[in-house]
Amino acid sequence: MKFMSSRKTLQAVMDEDLRDLLESIGQLEAFDTGQRFCNVCGALLTLKNLQMIIPREGGNFTFVCDRPDCIATSDKQI
Ligand SMILES: [Zn+2]
Repeated sequence: MKFMSSRKTLQAVMDEDLRDLLESIGQLEAFDTGQRFCNVCGALLTLKNLQMIIPREGGNFTFVCDRPDCIATSDKQI
C-alpha cells in the first residue's frame, strides 16, 4: 500500500510539472480541449500519452505519443 501511494504522488507531481511546461509554451489549452495529435501516428494526445515535445522553428512544436513505434520513428526523423 505504501508503494502504491508513493507512486500516485509521483504521478501527480509529474502531471503537474507537465501542465506547467505546456502552459509555459502556450499549449496547455490545446491539450485540455483535445486539439493536439501525435505527429507520427495521428493519435489524440493527452497529458497521459504525451511522450515528447520537440521545439520547431517559428514557435511550433512537434508532439509524439508514447507508442514505441512513434518514439523509434521520431528518433530517426527528428
Ligand atoms: Zn504516435
